[in-house]
Amino acid sequence: MTTNHAITSRIQQATEVDVDLCYQCGKCTAGCVLADDMEFPSSYLIRLLQTNKEENYSKVLKSNTIWLCLNCENCIGRCPKEVDIPRLMDYLRTESIKRKCVSPKAKPILSFHKSFLNSIRYTGKLNEINLIAEFKLRTMRLWQDVKLVPSMLIKGKLKFLPETVKNRKNIIRIFNRTIKNTK
Ligand code: SF4
Ligand code: SF4
Repeated sequence: MTTNHAITSRIQQATEVDVDLCYQCGKCTAGCVLADDMEFPSSYLIRLLQTNKEENYSKVLKSNTIWLCLNCENCIGRCPKEVDIPRLMDYLRTESIKRKCVSPKAKPILSFHKSFLNSIRYTGKLNEINLIAEFKLRTMRLWQDVKLVPSMLIKGKLKFLPETVKNRKNIIRIFNRTIKNTK
């Protein structure tokens, strides 16, 4: 049985974000460009967390809201209590993965994140061709946007040979440390 404030305390301990500061003025939601596409917008997500109920926490972790958030920081810029919603979203995404309850609607977004990070991990720089190839294989969207490829090649937007940073060991170290800390 969850004790009162167990969820909000856990969040605060991990992120230093105190969701209880929120008094539901709605300014964050009003300024969020993606609020209409989210299953529930940021102020509602915070209200669910404030209830400290496991079923509401689970609802948050299973939602597409945490994956649609762009970490643009419009919300924290408008919040009179400076509730750091982007940092909160980062934490909730990690929790959602750990509990294996990522929203099916968010799977392509997660595939994009993984493809992006893998491209950086192996060379230290983003290679668009690697990113696109891995994303398409992960999502099986093999032919989507394929018509754009010739013009992107002509404009030099796609490079076949990946560039590599000088000290790749540092990149590997950063990835290993981050993976260890999020386990
Ligand atoms: S950081 Fe996320 S929740 Fe906040 S305004 Fe941007 S997209 Fe919306
Ligand atoms: S702007 Fe801040 S105080 Fe207002 S609803 Fe959003 S998080 Fe809560």
